Amino acid sequence: MQYQQILNTIETEILALKNTGNVASYIPELAKVDANKLGMHLYCNDASHYGFGNEDERFSIQSISKVFSLTLAMSLLDDTLFERVDVEPSGDPFNSLIQLEYENGIPRNPLINAGALVIADTLISTLENPKKDFLDFIHKITNNTTIKSNQKVFDSEKRYSHRNASLLNLMKSFGNIKNDIETVLDLYIFQCAIEMSCSELATAFMIYANAGKTLFNDTQLISPIKIKRINAIMQTCGFYDEAGEFSFRVGLPGKSGVGGGIAAIHPGQYAVTVWSPPLNPKGNSEHGMYALERLTTLTGYSIF
Ligand code: GLN
Repeated sequence: MQYQQILNTIETEILALKNTGNVASYIPELAKVDANKLGMHLYCNDASHYGFGNEDERFSIQSISKVFSLTLAMSLLDDTLFERVDVEPSGDPFNSLIQLEYENGIPRNPLINAGALVIADTLISTLENPKKDFLDFIHKITNNTTIKSNQKVFDSEKRYSHRNASLLNLMKSFGNIKNDIETVLDLYIFQCAIEMSCSELATAFMIYANAGKTLFNDTQLISPIKIKRINAIMQTCGFYDEAGEFSFRVGLPGKSGVGGGIAAIHPGQYAVTVWSPPLNPKGNSEHGMYALERLTTLTGYSIF
């Protein structure tokens, strides 16, 4: 497959497009990011790499971190985890409170904010040193110990986290949050403020494309059956109320973040990441979705 040629075509096409989206501003620090940043990186299971643009510049991974926290929780806990968080698409925005009230504080899935907050709560109950252990996990799947959480982004989100705090309070009233609300909020905001580049994220996502094994040292970090489940959750829930649209247009499991990143995988083939900060009205990178739609169209392959 002529991947580099295909990526070059995608880059040329995107540079000719007008961006109608907006950079996330509800976290003030994210509003400072240059809207013209654009990078893409593709890492194949045969260890070849392709990319363009700002592929090596780090950005705020935000909700993409929810895939890593879910993976860490599933590697530590048994299936009783899914008594506290479901695996159904929500069809609602990422930070919605609506379903939680009539579904008794059980979030629809681990990739919406409510679900990721429950996962953060389980990590706090399980790990000795949750923030450090979380970062260690990212270091392990990327083979890169320089990746860290950005304190400014953390502080910025912390000041405006009333909605996530209300999700936590509501779930705590139903008994589905075991730890102190501030502690859970803290870990969640810390994981969202982690910064990684497209190439680092593609390396990390290789465990989802390679049945739970890192490609750089062939270590089985999580079982293939758990990877199957995580990929299924990404496919059905990775884009909130646009999960259907992403499946329809792109046809790969993936996850977006309000930092403008999207990571996706083709099992057995590749991990691919794209970064373009302006978001569409559903909170997903406008040109990121376009880039991935073109990738599966120009290669002729998706998981469908
Ligand atoms: N930290 C962000 C929030 O909780 C993550 C949202 C996202 O990336 N969709 O609002």
